[in-house]
Amino acid sequence: MQRYFASVIGNNVLLSEEDAFHLTKVMRARKGEEIEVVNEDIPYLCKITELKPLTIKVVEKIKEKRELPNDVTLICALIKGDKLDFVLQKATEIGVKEIVLITTDRTVVKPNSFNTSKKLERYHKILREASMQSHRNKIPELYRLIDMSKLSTVRADRKIIAYEGEAGNTKSFWDALKGIQPKEKIAILVGPEGGFSPIEVKKAQASGYVPVSLGNRILRAETASIYALSVLSCYLERK
Ligand code: SAH
Repeated sequence: MQRYFASVIGNNVLLSEEDAFHLTKVMRARKGEEIEVVNEDIPYLCKITELKPLTIKVVEKIKEKRELPNDVTLICALIKGDKLDFVLQKATEIGVKEIVLITTDRTVVKPNSFNTSKKLERYHKILREASMQSHRNKIPELYRLIDMSKLSTVRADRKIIAYEGEAGNTKSFWDALKGIQPKEKIAILVGPEGGFSPIEVKKAQASGYVPVSLGNRILRAETASIYALSVLSCYLERK
């Protein structure tokens, strides 16, 4: 069933122009068809009662648990081209709550090429569409770009830096996850194509980040984010 993020006023659903077009013209929805709508993190089962004008009514609230039990922040170094699009989409599907983009000693993408409103708009569209597709109740927040000196501004109770220099010491990741308490906020920091400089790892450690291994192999930056978030979400949702 299709899911949209929209406004709900009383028992009326107000879709954005774009979503209304998608529902009626692309998906060719029919009168009487049901869709899911999320408003302020609450999912509703809704029904299309009229197509012209498009009228959608709330049927009932949906009981579901889609979000991870803990808030997870991915701090991801700027990486080239559509690899970052890929990370934003996959991190959303896996359940991340916040994404902070960061420049490091070895990021090759120039920060000013990131901050354009066109690019930010595209990133927000990726996050929104991935949240709809994965039937989430939230769209991840994308925060403004920071550099490593601002790392301490990211609030988290448990801080992990995926450091390729730890490769092979996989016990470290599990140890870093062990004993996570409910409500603990977790931040995972992943480096760029060129990796982290040793001095950066030291600075991250000084801010409370624990260096961990993501296995015996050296993963691409985009793979590392997905791997780390997958292991973390599996750990958090284990029964
Ligand atoms: N170019 C570097 C690797 C960079 S990989 C080299 O060849 O050594 C990009 C990022 O992915 C790293 O900064 C790190 O955050 C993460 N990463 C990749 N493989 C990892 C591993 N085995 N353990 C921990 N982190 C890893």
